[in-house]
Amino acid sequence: LVSREHHSQRSSVRVGEVSIGPDTVTLIAGPCAVETPEQTLLAARMAQAAGATLLRGGAFKPRTSPYAFQGLGERGLRILAEVREETGLPIVTEVVGAHDVDMVASYADMLQVGTRNMQNFPLLQAVGSAGKPVMLKRGMNATIEEWLMAAEYIAQRGNLDIVLCERGIRTFETATRNTLDISAVPVAQRLSHLPVVVDPSHSGGRRDLVLPLSRAAIVAGADGLIVDVHPDPDIALCDGPQALVAEDLHVLARTLEDLAGFM
Ligand code: PEP
Repeated sequence: LVSREHHSQRSSVRVGEVSIGPDTVTLIAGPCAVETPEQTLLAARMAQAAGATLLRGGAFKPRTSPYAFQGLGERGLRILAEVREETGLPIVTEVVGAHDVDMVASYADMLQVGTRNMQNFPLLQAVGSAGKPVMLKRGMNATIEEWLMAAEYIAQRGNLDIVLCERGIRTFETATRNTLDISAVPVAQRLSHLPVVVDPSHSGGRRDLVLPLSRAAIVAGADGLIVDVHPDPDIALCDGPQALVAEDLHVLARTLEDLAGFM
C-alpha cells in the first residue's frame, strides 16, 4: 500500500489546511515537551513567527530513564489544544500506547509514532484506525524496509495519510546522539509514495547541528523538517541542548527559503 509499485506519483498528506508532500517544504516546530501553558504558547509563537505551519509538542514522552520527565499526559494535550485556539496552528503530538490512541486523537491533528515504538504493531494498527494523519518516525535500529513495513501496518487499517520521518539511526559514532541517515530521504522516496520529513533535532541531539543537518535534508529532497524550539532551553525539562531559540529558528527558516528558491 505504501510502495510506489502501485502509486507512480508521490503523495501529499493534509493536516488541517497544511499540506506535506512533494510541492512544498513544510516546517514543523515546537517544544520537545509541553511543560506549561506559557512555555508552549511562547514556543508556538516563535514557530509561527518563523513561518512554521504545524506545531509539534509532546505530552507523552517516551524517555530512556523512568526518572526523567515523562510529560504532562492529557493535561499537556489540553494545553496544546488551547495553544491551537490561540495560534491556529494544527498540532502534531506523540502517542505511546495503543490504549491512548482515541484520547490523543481527540486533541491531535496529527498523531506521531516515535522511534521507540516504530515496531509496536498494536499501536500502529490503532493509529491506522484513528482517522488522523500519522507521522511515523524511523526506529533508531530499523532498516528502511522495516520502516516501510511499519507504515504498511498503518495503511492496512485504511489510513494512507502517513508521513515518514527520518530521525537518525544508531551507529558506532558517539559524537552525535544518532547518525542522520540522509540517504534514507531519497531511498524512501524512491521506494514509497509517502512524504518524507527529517528531524534534525532528535538525530543530532545538539543545537549547533540543526542548521547544517536541515540544509542537508532539504538538498537531499526532504518534504519538510520537524524541529525543537524552546523559549528558554537552559531550563527545558526535555532535550534542552537541541532546542533552537527564536533567532536560530529565523536563520533556519531563511535558509529554507533560500534553498527552496535555489532548487
Ligand atoms: C520526539 O519527537 O519528541 C521524539 C521523542 O522523537 P524520537 O521518537 O525520534 O526520539
